[in-house]
Amino acid sequence: DAKDKGRSRFCFFNPVLAQRTSMRMQIEQDLKQALSQQGQLFMVYQPVIQLESRQVLGFEALVRWQHPELGTIAPDQFIRVAEQSSLMGELGQWILQQVLSDQASLMAQHPGCRWLSINLSVRQLEDPQLCESIYQLCQLYQVSFDSLLFEITETALSQSADILNSLQKLRTFGAYVAVDDFGTGYSSLSRLKDLPIDCLKIDRSFVTALLSDSTSNEIVRAVIRLANALGLTTVAEGIELPEQAELLRELGCHKGQGYFFGRPQPCKSRLN
Ligand code: C2E
Ligand code: MG
Ligand code: MG
Ligand code: MG
Repeated sequence: DAKDKGRSRFCFFNPVLAQRTSMRMQIEQDLKQALSQQGQLFMVYQPVIQLESRQVLGFEALVRWQHPELGTIAPDQFIRVAEQSSLMGELGQWILQQVLSDQASLMAQHPGCRWLSINLSVRQLEDPQLCESIYQLCQLYQVSFDSLLFEITETALSQSADILNSLQKLRTFGAYVAVDDFGTGYSSLSRLKDLPIDCLKIDRSFVTALLSDSTSNEIVRAVIRLANALGLTTVAEGIELPEQAELLRELGCHKGQGYFFGRPQPCKSRLN
């Protein structure tokens, strides 16, 4: 009640917490500025490879922020700040605009490339205008929906029916939907078959431990078998060793991504 709240508001000064809070406020303020300027925020693209043929099938778009004083800030940090403030909508829109405008050059540079993958935050999915604005950007940049894959977290799938409806709408337009970092959230396995999804991305933590830890090994096997049974494709994230790539292929995993195949890189032709 009010009395408890009043008390906790003036609780002991915690320097770690205070520092974290001011850090968050600085990131929030600077991100707002970065969004109104050019050059601080940019996209990089990491190849997704077909494990059987070793061909590049697609790219995942990942955002980067080169802060003028703090240097490179990892998206795990500033995406969270953006989500907690009101900035995620704007940042998400900036990302969509950037990726869709890069799409033609990326596809032209990599003839075998079939799609671009874009991470969507729950905050973006909550916006009832999301599908419409993606639709308009696709028209503007002449991007076909079947060359887009949207990555969402398991958490997003456990949210409102509106989010599931938006995902279904994107799929009706022709786009694909993947569950990112699969295995780290709390998806109910029995629900997977009813969800509007096409692909499971096996979290990097399982791939990293694949060769050394028998539990991770069993989890990876189970996820691949489950995905195959449900008609979903699988992408293994964070492949750093040829042995991991080889074992994943043997286990029936379709695609892979990781430093072994390629690091995220800026889209070159913008510089040419
Ligand atoms: P994610 O979507 O699971 O992206 C994969 C992350 O793993 C990327 O980190 C990528 O650089 C990293 N990675 C890829 N291969 C390897 C590898 O072999 N070894 C290691 N150690 N790491 C590898 P990044 O770019 O720092 O992104 C972290 C997370 O931030 C992403 O995880 C995603 O959740 C979020 N994020 C990044 N870009 C965007 C974006 O444009 N929009 C949204 N909403 N979220 C984004
Ligand atoms: Mg992702
Ligand atoms: Mg992931
Ligand atoms: Mg991740």
